[in-house]
Amino acid sequence: MSERTLVLLKPDAVRRGLVGQILARFEAKGLSIVAMEHRTIDAPMADAHYAEHVEQPWYPPLREFAVSGPLVALVLEGDEAISVVRALNGATDGRAAAPGTIRGDFSLSNRENLVHASDSTESAAREMALWFPDLG
Ligand code: ADP
Ligand code: MG
Repeated sequence: MSERTLVLLKPDAVRRGLVGQILARFEAKGLSIVAMEHRTIDAPMADAHYAEHVEQPWYPPLREFAVSGPLVALVLEGDEAISVVRALNGATDGRAAAPGTIRGDFSLSNRENLVHASDSTESAAREMALWFPDLG
């Protein structure tokens, strides 16, 4: 079933010049880019995006990271895109993520882990409405 999912190439991906390599993996997999924006967010936007995590002890430094520089937000579309993109991204902690995944190959951190992807149809709908309110 074709799905859409919200993906962020976080500020570390932009700073490290990995945007092209990461996008190439998604495109090579067969996913389509249906929206994309280079953007710097503020703290309220970070809090809205990470609403489920704002009470975590590790959230304040995550917010600082999220607003620390430009990121690239995009919507990817394809067959089972939500779970497929999560698998391409790899486990949250880059130190534990499997080699071959984006985090496993490029991240050594559980915070600066390069990519975000929606984890369910509900979160994909919420996150796409937040980031791309004009997308049909
Ligand atoms: P995922 O991005 O894999 O869905 P979570 O939703 O659990 O992971 O967490 C959201 C983001 O918060 C992670 O991608 C990571 O940047 C950060 N994060 C998660 N857990 C921690 C932690 N224990 N310490 C620091 N940052 C964390
Ligand atoms: Mg998550």
